[in-house]
Amino acid sequence: MKQILVKECGGPEKMELVEVAKPAPGPGQVLVKLASIGVNFIDIYFRIGLYKAPAPVSLGMEGAGVVEAVGEGVEGVKTGDRVAYCMVRGSYAEYAVVPAAQIVVLPAALDFQSASAAMLQGMTAHYLTHSTYALKPGDTCLVHAAAGGTGGLITQMAKMRGARVIGTASTREKAALAKASGADEVILYTECEFDQEVKRLTGGRGVDVVYDSVGASTFMRSLDSLKPRGMMVTFGNASGAVPAIEPLLLNQKGSLYLTRPALAHYATTREELLARANDVLGWVASGKLKLRIGRTYPLAHVAQAHIDLAGRATTGKLLLIPG
Ligand code: NDP
Repeated sequence: MKQILVKECGGPEKMELVEVAKPAPGPGQVLVKLASIGVNFIDIYFRIGLYKAPAPVSLGMEGAGVVEAVGEGVEGVKTGDRVAYCMVRGSYAEYAVVPAAQIVVLPAALDFQSASAAMLQGMTAHYLTHSTYALKPGDTCLVHAAAGGTGGLITQMAKMRGARVIGTASTREKAALAKASGADEVILYTECEFDQEVKRLTGGRGVDVVYDSVGASTFMRSLDSLKPRGMMVTFGNASGAVPAIEPLLLNQKGSLYLTRPALAHYATTREELLARANDVLGWVASGKLKLRIGRTYPLAHVAQAHIDLAGRATTGKLLLIPG
């Protein structure tokens, strides 16, 4: 089968399409023939070595397809099932071996592209808006990169929960997409000091919570956008990793709360994973949650997908199609 491997961390050109033996599922695992593969920023972190894995590094954390074989002791999933999964590395391939505990059987109404677009970013938006800081009517949140894959879903879920959403985006075109996802206001954060604009939009108060996936370039101004005792959720590094800070800074900026969450810690049991996945996939199947698939690429063109994502040239979700 064909698979993308990184023998040495670095630029997009380090991703090689190689021929490897088709894997077999071990006990508790299933073999999925992938029909659609989600591209996520975390794949870039593993490719460049910001997140560590032993070489050669397999990439891709999300996929959807058909179960081709099941290992010993697997229950609840069978050969021929249409499934999706995320947070298991190695989906940039024609086949993937996945722990059955991570597999979600798809509703009949859901196609593979939608499923592979919804799992990782959808469950992330779900835990951020429902658990890390459970938004409620009357809350105001700041969502960075609100035209991006994750940002667009956070925006929609925040609106479902009755919150006011102030989004950020780098261009007018992206701002219009963030508005279409439900953002009440959108700040062009490449053209102004966004914390001052947030203060203006909130009558000087600041927001209850910031969902910050941009990282290094926005972190400090995000802290300055919060109300006293507000919650700073730094959950990504699109512009680079946030450097160390002194805890005293949180005191000086208003007794702020700071968390750096990951999806894996918000899907720690099979029940928790299924509860989030069933919400997200159910909302997509019913049309309550809209996916925007920005672009699809053949698996062999993965380098271009990474160049586009890292270059801020994308909106919504990117997918790779094997075969
Ligand atoms: P996006 O589709 O959001 O793409 C990234 C966006 O970030 C860009 O389109 C761009 O939007 C913005 N951005 C701002 N500065 C930069 C920069 N210097 N370089 C590149 N992009 C920049 O990607 P994803 O939805 O896949 O991921 C978004 C973030 O969410 C990532 O940081 C990712 O790590 C994080 N994440 C974290 C998870 C967790 O559980 N902790 C799980 C899933 C995602 P604009 O042009 O409008 O500025």
